[in-house]
Amino acid sequence: MDWSFPPEAEAFRAEFRAWLVEHLTPELLALPMVVGCAPGSPELAALRAWNRELADARYAAISWPEEYGGRGATVIEQLVFTEEMHRSGAPGTVNVIGLSNIAPAIMQYGTEDQKRRFLPRMLRGDDIWCQGFSEPDAGSDLASLSTSAVRDGDHFVVNGQKTWNTLGNLAGWCELLVRTDRDAPKHKGISCLLVDMSLPGVEVRPLTTITGEPEFSELFFTDVRVPVDALLGPEHEGWRVAMTTLSYERAGVASLHLGLRAKIGGLLAEAKRTPARSGGGRTAAQDPVLRQELARLYLQGELLKLVADRAISDAIHGRATGPEGSIAKLVWSETSQHLGEVAADVLGPAADAGPWGRDRVYSRSTTIAGGTTQVNKNILAQRVLGLPRR
Ligand SMILES: Cc1cc2nc3c(=O)[nH]c(=O)nc-3n(C[C@H](O)[C@H](O)[C@H](O)COP(=O)(O)OP(=O)(O)OC[C@H]3O[C@@H](n4cnc5c(N)ncnc54)[C@H](O)[C@@H]3O)c2cc1C
Repeated sequence: MDWSFPPEAEAFRAEFRAWLVEHLTPELLALPMVVGCAPGSPELAALRAWNRELADARYAAISWPEEYGGRGATVIEQLVFTEEMHRSGAPGTVNVIGLSNIAPAIMQYGTEDQKRRFLPRMLRGDDIWCQGFSEPDAGSDLASLSTSAVRDGDHFVVNGQKTWNTLGNLAGWCELLVRTDRDAPKHKGISCLLVDMSLPGVEVRPLTTITGEPEFSELFFTDVRVPVDALLGPEHEGWRVAMTTLSYERAGVASLHLGLRAKIGGLLAEAKRTPARSGGGRTAAQDPVLRQELARLYLQGELLKLVADRAISDAIHGRATGPEGSIAKLVWSETSQHLGEVAADVLGPAADAGPWGRDRVYSRSTTIAGGTTQVNKNILAQRVLGLPRR
């Protein structure tokens, strides 16, 4: 098989690589991820400034159509872009969820006014967006959501609670799923609103995760008056909008292997220079048990890349995406957790702190976020293996 990219893609790589060399500074490389930033912090301001540089050069969302500030990039160009971002260690944009998940839904269902109003500010990182879907009693079974929006003249009056809201503490806007018809079947009476988080009655309570980062928030809505022009897509048809948003979230798994394989490579290098805790003057990589685990990790990373390549091949040839999203999500999340365990065996207590310690505890969330392991296995059981629903 020939995995080389076409010359146009390599030309794009050279152009983007040169741009990165010119613009990336040591200060930028040292910045934390946006989820680790406090509101109003200098780190967040620096990430926003970097985001604007990317947007001005039309590198903030290259897959977006040109009319919205993207490059209408091909699948291969997107792959090249992601590879170069990983290779250089450049920070990403601040709108992690907005650009990849919410914007495509606005492009598909939004009015011209909504597109003009929201997309440019989202692209430049002027407005950070969050996704208000999950509730205390509606996670995997999202259609059970109960946050309500009742029409009152030219407003909806919103009441309810959302949870696990990534970036909720930094967000100025929220793509909010609400129930607008209590009598309809549960998938039918849902609407999607684009909500200004500064409206009276919106309360954000940050939750600190086990990594010590304020990644999530709980959102409380008490008699929040949201103008009707905030409706995204038709009233009561928010489920379709939500599925569009989630399909983009799942599509992102095609590039997950890049970060994970880099970390596996890093652990292999560490194992070759770290003395084995079993003694005998060996390195960890020479330990007979550990080397099996390291080899297994390496293979899991390579397997993930092959799954991603299959998804990319489908996209290039215009075929509908198959079950690769669920398979990649499963392999990535379980390998992330396995990596943390092997890192602890290789590095000992040193793996409890710093980036290895952070990744190890953070990886617990990977089998939950974006569809749990059990839900993904159900999808594969039904759609690939043809097993009955129960
Ligand atoms: C890092 C992270 C970021 C997140 N960001 C956001 C965000 O920005 N916005 C947002 O709205 N939500 C967000 N979430 C929430 C996420 O979407 C939910 O956690 C997820 O959908 C699971 O829902 P739940 O937590 O309510 O668990 P539940 O759905 O209650 O599941 C509990 C357990 O039951 C199992 N289970 C449930 N249904 C089935 C079934 N049918 N068959 C077999 N087992 C089943 C699950 O696998 C799980 O083990 C985030 C979560 C995480 C971890």
